[in-house]
Amino acid sequence: MSSPVAQKVSLLGLDHEALVQWCAQLGEKRFRATQLYRWIHQRGVADFDAMSDLAKSLRAKLHEQAQVQALPVLAEQVSRDGTIKWLFDVGQGNAVEAVFIPERDRATLCVSSQAGCAIGCRFCSTGHQGFSRNLSSAEIIAQLWYAEHTLRRRFARDERIITNVVMMGMGEPLQNYGQLVPALRTMLDDNAYGLSRRRVTVSTSGIAPMMDRLSQSVPVALAVSLHAPSDALRDQLVPLNRKYPLAELMAACRRYLQYAPRDFITFEYCMLDGVNDSDAHARALVELLSGAPGGARQDTGWCKLNLIPFNPFPDSGLKCSKPQRVQAFAQVLLEAGIVTTVRKTRGDDIDAACGQLAGEVQDRTHALVRMQRQRQPAALQAAVQAAPETGPAMAPGPAYRLETNA
Ligand code: SF4
Repeated sequence: MSSPVAQKVSLLGLDHEALVQWCAQLGEKRFRATQLYRWIHQRGVADFDAMSDLAKSLRAKLHEQAQVQALPVLAEQVSRDGTIKWLFDVGQGNAVEAVFIPERDRATLCVSSQAGCAIGCRFCSTGHQGFSRNLSSAEIIAQLWYAEHTLRRRFARDERIITNVVMMGMGEPLQNYGQLVPALRTMLDDNAYGLSRRRVTVSTSGIAPMMDRLSQSVPVALAVSLHAPSDALRDQLVPLNRKYPLAELMAACRRYLQYAPRDFITFEYCMLDGVNDSDAHARALVELLSGAPGGARQDTGWCKLNLIPFNPFPDSGLKCSKPQRVQAFAQVLLEAGIVTTVRKTRGDDIDAACGQLAGEVQDRTHALVRMQRQRQPAALQAAVQAAPETGPAMAPGPAYRLETNA
């Protein structure tokens, strides 16, 4: 028999309209749902008794039927640079992470969407842990709810602290679409976190049909994990490429652009020593991107490249590109007119890089075993060797901007 607590509705997971409908079932008017929504998300209140402008009768119903449940925090690590990583318990031996990254002009929260990940990108520590389950919309929003209100209390501030959210933590968000969308709606809602669509970024490994769906329902900013300029190499680094190869992915990006709030798409490119970081790879990347939108050559204004220094982890068998190589790679892109940034490494002392998180998951679906079977070191080697020769070394170029994504 399930416990009464388990039967309660988890209000964190309801977007505004869903909460209005749920309250209507209790016989409550729309404005009551809005009040409740504001108490929860704008003021960070979980105790229904503290919601002083709600009628006693409504509070009694809420006690009986609903809950605002934070995720238990297993650990918190604070970096010298102000980055904070939280490890949240999502039950049954699974943990997920959220990372707060403060900067001069913004403060970003990197949020997880799944416990583990089934995509199995070669360079990603999450991908090496296997996959357990999708997070619920309540568990996704609970990361933002906890971070925002914990930090407000800690810094004794009334106004908003987190200005940007990036869905770049553990998991492929578009494989958890049904739970992702209500969470995104709450992030954007003026009665909750009130973030603009430009300031909420979904990062995907390239599930083309789901990118189309997102463009129709909640077209937030989009980041695409690219990591290779050719199908042969990307097949090895991002196994999903075998299902949605580059031509299909680029076409989906072009379609998304019609709805993208920033009028550009950010491409993430993890710099891997001797694998994808030669000048020849950079030139191939320019060719791929400059030819993408509508086939118009030399059109590079529709995208941005974010070069990510690889964060090594045990058994990856990969190394980070040398700083000079990253700079030379960036210069090829900059000279082609592609806005290129190199992600600053943040939270080095706490191992907090987004997308390379170190939470533990129970690999329930045995995704890890399948991925390991599919991984063929010889195939990666062959793909690397098939790439064009590295061109002549390039002189140090113009300084590129150093910043985190979004
Ligand atoms: S990079 Fe993203 S999609 Fe790829 S394995 Fe890691 S979490 Fe999954």
